[in-house]
Amino acid sequence: MHVKHWDKCLSLIKKELSPQSYKTWFKPIKPVKYKNQILILEVPNKFFYEWIEEHYLNILNNSILKVLGISGKIEYIISKEKEEIDEKKKIIELENQPPKITRFNNLNESFNFNSFVGGKCNSVAKAAGERICENPGKNPFNPLMVYGGVGLGKTHLIQSIGNRISNQTDLSVYYVTSEKFANQFIESLKENKLKDFTTFYSNVDCLIVDDIQFLSGKEKTQEVFFNIFNQLNLNRKQIILSADKSPVELNGLEQRLVSRFKSGLTVELEIPDFKTRSDILKHKISVDNINISNEIIDYIALQVDTNIRELEGVLISLLAHSTITKSEIDLKLTKSIIGKIVKDNNREINIKYIQEIVSKYFNISIEDMKDKARKKEIVIARQVAMYFSKDFTNNSLKSIGFHFGGRDHSTVIHAVQSVNDMIDTDSIFKKNIHEINRRITNN
Ligand code: ADP
Ligand code: MG
Repeated sequence: MHVKHWDKCLSLIKKELSPQSYKTWFKPIKPVKYKNQILILEVPNKFFYEWIEEHYLNILNNSILKVLGISGKIEYIISKEKEEIDEKKKIIELENQPPKITRFNNLNESFNFNSFVGGKCNSVAKAAGERICENPGKNPFNPLMVYGGVGLGKTHLIQSIGNRISNQTDLSVYYVTSEKFANQFIESLKENKLKDFTTFYSNVDCLIVDDIQFLSGKEKTQEVFFNIFNQLNLNRKQIILSADKSPVELNGLEQRLVSRFKSGLTVELEIPDFKTRSDILKHKISVDNINISNEIIDYIALQVDTNIRELEGVLISLLAHSTITKSEIDLKLTKSIIGKIVKDNNREINIKYIQEIVSKYFNISIEDMKDKARKKEIVIARQVAMYFSKDFTNNSLKSIGFHFGGRDHSTVIHAVQSVNDMIDTDSIFKKNIHEINRRITNN
C-alpha cells in the first residue's frame, strides 16, 4: 500500500526534476509505512530531508496532495534510527525466547563483495573473506582479524562476509561495533539481564565485531567478551574482527585477548594504490550511472590518496555541486572541491613538501637548497623554504635546520627574520611569498 502511494508520488515528482536531481534526492527515499493518511518516508540522514524540505518542498507537497488528498501528510524517519529500532526489536525478540535463535542478520546489504573493489591493497583480506564464506567457522581463518586505518574498507569487507554467509546459509550473523557491545553489556548489568546478554551472543553462528580498539581500557567488557569469544570458538562458530591497528599495537587490551585475536588470520587493509583508487571511482560512477570523464577520475585518484571514504566524499560533493548549480563536472569544479575538502585537512604540509614547492617556484634544486651554496637566489630560496617550514609545520627550529643540510637553529631564526624584512620592504618579493603560500595550501 505505502509502496504504491509512494510510487505514484515519485512518478509525479520525476516529471518535475532533472534526472540527476531525481536520482540523487528521491531515489534513495524508501516508503516505510502508511497510516492515518500519513506516509512515513525513510531518508538516509538529516541533511537529506532538510535539503528536500528546502529545495523540493513544493514539488513534494503537490505530489502528496494529488496522491493522498488534502489531508495527506508525510513524516520522515532517518535510516539509522530505524536500524536501531529494528535491532532493538530483534534483541528483545531473541531475549524473550532464549536460547532458541531464529535466523537473522543486522547487516547493511549494500556492503557486499560486488561493491567491494579488489586491488593490491586488499587482495589477501578479500580472498580470506571469500574463503571463510565457503565454510564459515570451520576454516583456518577463524578468527579473521582485519586491521587498517580509517576509511580503508574494514567495515565494508567484514559486512560483505557477513552478507554472503547470511545469503548462502541459514546461519545467524550478528554485526556489532565494540562500542555498542560495551553499551549493551552495561545495559544488561543495569537491568539484571547479563545472562540474556551472554546467551544471546553465545548463540550467534557468525559474530562480527567492528572496531575492537574501543574495548581498550574496558576491563569488565573485555572479560565478558573473552568468555563469549571462547564459547563461540569452542563451538567452531565464525568470528570476524576489525581494528584500526595491528593486534600488537592495540594498547589497553588484555594480552590473553590479543593472543586469541591472533590465533586465526590477521590481515591488513592498506592504502589503495593509484590504480585501485581509480578502479573504485570507476566502479562507483558506473553503478550510479554518473557521467564523469576518465581524465577527471584519474585526477581525483591522483590527488586523493588518503583513504576510500575521502575518495567517495569527493565524488558525492561533486555530484551535489553539479546538481545544485546545474553545471557539468569539469576539471575546474573538481579541483576546487578537492582543494576544499581534502587538501586543507589532510595533505600533510611537511618540510619536504615545502621544499618541493619552493624549489619549483624559484627553479632551484632541492640539493642546492640543502647544500652550502651562497649564491643569492639559492640563499633566498633556502630562507623562504625555512620561513614556511617554521610557519606551516610543528618542527622545532633545530629540526628545520637539520632538514636543510644540518644547519644550526640560529640560521633558521635568521632566515625567518630576513624573509619578514623583505616582505616589509620589497613588494614584488611579498607577491612571490603570497603566491608560494597559495601553492603550499593549494588555495
Ligand atoms: P573503515 O571501516 O575501514 O573505516 P569503510 O568500510 O567504512 O572503512 O569504508 C569507507 C567507505 O569506502 C565506505 O563507503 C565503503 O563502501 C568504501 N570502500 C571501502 N573499501 C572499498 C572497496 N574496496 N571498494 C569499494 N568501496 C570501498
Ligand atoms: Mg568502520
